[in-house]
Amino acid sequence: MHTASSIGSQIAVIGAGISGIACARVLSEAGLSVHVFDKGRRPGGRVSSRTVEKDAHDFSFDYGAQYFTVRHPLFRSVTAKLADKGMVSRWPVAGEDAWVGTPRMAKLIEGLADGIDIAWGAEVTALSSSKSGWSVRIGDSDVRNFDQVVLAMPAEQTALLAGAGDPEMARRAAGSRTEPCWTVMLGFAEPLPIHEGIVKGPGISSATRNSGKPKRQGGEAWVVHADPDWSRQYLEHEPADIEQRLSERFASLIGVTLQPIFTRAHRWRYALSSSRSEGCYWNEEIGLGACGDWLLAPRIESAWISGHTLGKRIVGAGLDL
Ligand SMILES: Cc1cc2nc3c(=O)[nH]c(=O)nc-3n(C[C@H](O)[C@H](O)[C@H](O)COP(=O)(O)OP(=O)(O)OC[C@H]3O[C@@H](n4cnc5c(N)ncnc54)[C@H](O)[C@@H]3O)c2cc1C
Repeated sequence: MHTASSIGSQIAVIGAGISGIACARVLSEAGLSVHVFDKGRRPGGRVSSRTVEKDAHDFSFDYGAQYFTVRHPLFRSVTAKLADKGMVSRWPVAGEDAWVGTPRMAKLIEGLADGIDIAWGAEVTALSSSKSGWSVRIGDSDVRNFDQVVLAMPAEQTALLAGAGDPEMARRAAGSRTEPCWTVMLGFAEPLPIHEGIVKGPGISSATRNSGKPKRQGGEAWVVHADPDWSRQYLEHEPADIEQRLSERFASLIGVTLQPIFTRAHRWRYALSSSRSEGCYWNEEIGLGACGDWLLAPRIESAWISGHTLGKRIVGAGLDL
């Protein structure tokens, strides 16, 4: 098996969330040939945004992560560069070290992904090793060969793909649980009569006024995240039922009768990782690695550190966290 990372090495990174993008950037800056695959349609993974037009109102929602922390010096310098380009901004409402993408959270990932080769709508369905490296199957029949492969996705999805190639990685991933999160996006014709930008309460880990974030345009938009216990309890319920239940909970939390003109539920089956580990996983012998929040902590910044660290390890440059 070819495992040495050198100029000309072909590396597949599976997952274009922040960890995969962070890893791909290090690899590509080191001169390796990196190809990122993601089953989604745009960069971000759990850092996802959408805009909606309803009844002559535009609404902008970040329906995954609401903000990110910037604490690590390396991540701080990356964030500063994006801030210079107007792609991220501080958001003190969430804390002294809190930032958001501008004008949407996904802008953070779009900024980091600039110039990286990414195939969208490319679900990797199987991974197998051969004498010459790795065969990556995309969809039903498209098979491509690479020298090394990085899995940059939640633990449960990593366990599925790692199984045949690296039982140790699969075992660790299978032992890590990612909590679900039911989310409801609410758009209103008028601002809600409360001052807070973020509220929390029973069953609700956060309800965030998205229209109150920096550089947002459009109407009054809120994103309500149910907490893990509530989300697990109603995991298989229909979206329409979730929209009603979670909206009612939010209404009773803030003591306001809600009359949204737009309501949409989104189920994150894998939202917040609950395990901690060594930061990233790299099996140099077989050329297979893993990164993502499940290897460090359930935060955007941690997922970036995980991917960045793995990239450095693959190119042979150590990194102290
Ligand atoms: C509702 C919610 C709220 C959150 N709130 C915050 C917050 O406020 N602050 C914060 O710091 N963090 C928050 N987080 C956590 C944060 O979003 C994650 O820790 C981080 O985005 C994880 O990045 P990742 O690269 O590890 O994984 P992901 O972002 O999940 O990226 C994995 C990517 O892999 C792709 N993929 C998976 N399987 C395959 C396959 N077989 N083939 C191809 N592609 C595949 C997926 O499409 C996805 O794009 C929140 C998360 C959620 C869901």
